[in-house]
Amino acid sequence: MSVLQNAVKTSDGVTLKGFLLSPVVEQCSGCERVRQFEEQEFCSSYADPGSKWVGGHCNFATHIKVQAAAAAARVNPLKASKRAAKGR
Ligand code: SF4
Repeated sequence: MSVLQNAVKTSDGVTLKGFLLSPVVEQCSGCERVRQFEEQEFCSSYADPGSKWVGGHCNFATHIKVQAAAAAARVNPLKASKRAAKGR
């Protein structure tokens, strides 16, 4: 896992470009945007990863997109066979 670049440890917590960062949440596990800093894991894209998972999945989650792509790959052959059946 890559290290979080340009992060600074302050008395308030870990900050990046002036934004206070919250550690990643459980759902972020497996995402390529997770970065390590001072024994904790943060998101390279969002200061507050927990808020990205409220009411659905994070739209930047790389591990979720992989699953969605796999699901789409399963659906497409079915559509193709339906189209082929219509043509007959
Ligand atoms: S992009 Fe989303 S899922 Fe990935 S680490 Fe950041 S908040 Fe978590």
